[in-house]
Amino acid sequence: MVYDCMIIGGGPAGLTAAIYARRAGLLTAVMERLYEGGQLASIHTVDNYPGFYGMSGDELIEKMSSHARVYDYGSINDEATGIEENGGIFTIKTGSSAYSAKTVIIASGASPKKLNVRGEDIFTGRGVSYCAVCDGAFFKGKDAAVIGGGNTAAQDALYLARICRRVYMIHRRNRLRAERHFTGLIEQNPAVELIYDAIPDEIYGNESVESLRISGVKTGNKRSLDVSGVFIAVGISPGSGFARGFTELDESGFIKTDEYMRTNVPGVFAAGDVRTSPLRQIITATADGAVAADSARAYLER
Ligand code: NAP
Repeated sequence: MVYDCMIIGGGPAGLTAAIYARRAGLLTAVMERLYEGGQLASIHTVDNYPGFYGMSGDELIEKMSSHARVYDYGSINDEATGIEENGGIFTIKTGSSAYSAKTVIIASGASPKKLNVRGEDIFTGRGVSYCAVCDGAFFKGKDAAVIGGGNTAAQDALYLARICRRVYMIHRRNRLRAERHFTGLIEQNPAVELIYDAIPDEIYGNESVESLRISGVKTGNKRSLDVSGVFIAVGISPGSGFARGFTELDESGFIKTDEYMRTNVPGVFAAGDVRTSPLRQIITATADGAVAADSARAYLER
């Protein structure tokens, strides 16, 4: 079977692209390696997607998925490992199969970056986590640290402050990158101790995490924080590995597109967090998905 449109990734961008592609009459499939929703699954509450104030990430995914399913797209549970083009038909390769399509929308999102600090790998799953919403409950009444100063770190710290006894938020500069709204909430929260100008040196423990050792960036002063959990929120890496060498990427590995979501390969589009973009939000991902699907339609009608 040759699909009109193969969408790689079932997060907000991919699901929106599926809705628009199906409504345009395109034979469409969505390939998702895990479960639909993408990073939305790790968001506790969504406060900036218009019309859905205070909704949990899980609930919003369910709403988006059930909406998209109305349009009856093909659902493929597999992981793309590469793309090839031959005579205007794209082959999306996976570990064990290959799928053909006339257009491809890459909406494979992004995943949390590693900190690359001593102890991180050994204690991942034993106190080190990249998702406060997923693992926060394990640290009820205990002390935890969050590394990072962006929106994710701020949201993680606020989420953990409701569960943990004390939350240290460690940021390498003296000003958070997070939106002012979050910064205010963090500064007012008595359970959160903000530690500026500090970087982690080592996550230490025996069976599980027992402490986090940090150094002052300006002073070099060392401090050891007795924590059971370390939540790492230092940014995201694009899920574009399978497209490397096929579409043009920026220096950080995000896929370059124009405003029509066109990559440098005619017929291949990218949408959402996987593409170079000034703002990575649910609303920008869904908007990208809509534009990408409309561009795929226009490409097929050319
Ligand atoms: P981010 O905005 O890139 O922030 C990453 C943070 O980690 C920055 O504060 C950065 O410090 C710090 N950092 C990076 N590498 C580090 C290292 N090696 N050691 C110590 N600290 C390090 O990433 P994010 O918070 O995951 O957010 C990703 C995107 O999703 C952003 O566009 C964000 O706005 C969006 N988002 C939005 C919401 C929302 O509800 N609006 C929620 C979550 C995420 P510097 O500041 O010094 O660079």
